[in-house]
Amino acid sequence: MRYALISDIHSNIEALNAVIEKVKAEMVDKVILLGDIVGYGPDPNECIESLRGFADILIAGNHDHGAVGMTDISCFNKHAKAAIQWTSGILSEENKAFLSSLPLTSNIKSGSIYLVHSSPKEPEEWDYLQNAKDADANFKLFTETNCFIGHSHIPSIIEMSPEGKIKIYTDQSEIKAGCRYIINAGSVGQPRDGNPDAAYAIFDTDSVTIKRAAYDILLTQKKMKDAGLPSYLIDRLSEGR
Ligand code: ZN
Repeated sequence: MRYALISDIHSNIEALNAVIEKVKAEMVDKVILLGDIVGYGPDPNECIESLRGFADILIAGNHDHGAVGMTDISCFNKHAKAAIQWTSGILSEENKAFLSSLPLTSNIKSGSIYLVHSSPKEPEEWDYLQNAKDADANFKLFTETNCFIGHSHIPSIIEMSPEGKIKIYTDQSEIKAGCRYIINAGSVGQPRDGNPDAAYAIFDTDSVTIKRAAYDILLTQKKMKDAGLPSYLIDRLSEGR
């Protein structure tokens, strides 16, 4: 099976459209959305409507549940909070109901894959899983061979050997028999690894690759400005930080 992993769209329809165009040429069996369709960006309704027709399996992120009052946003920073309040105000009732229906976790039994936005350890706490120590603890908390995540906006491929040794790759790896993997697809709509291009991943039987798609960042930034969204969120898109 060949899967496209996309995550953290954050209401950025230009970035999402660029990724959709690339993914269509990849001939994947399933498209998996790992949460955070909304928050930060200017086009939440458009992103939800586009993904409803494109993704095969979808789970919720903290911003999706935050926008519909299903998770506490008091721990969000002031920019994220301002954007989520703006988002709640313009979401259609139908799209709010859709976000409310998204599960926190899912799995693909045939591929032995677990899906969660933040981390297998208490998915509703929205912890970050970013280093070998976090990975070591989290590999014990799901029974599937592989786990696909998002949330940090930094792509990574974490491999655990049959002996329990952890190795981290940033852009590409073979899928080795006997190893287990935690794969972070990075962010479509607000990358934070220093590369402003939209990130996504292609997972195949024998390899996984992080890919990038350039998009019209200036157009997204203009829409954010027109919507009155915080300038901190506008500026970071061009830096990929
Ligand atoms: Zn996010």
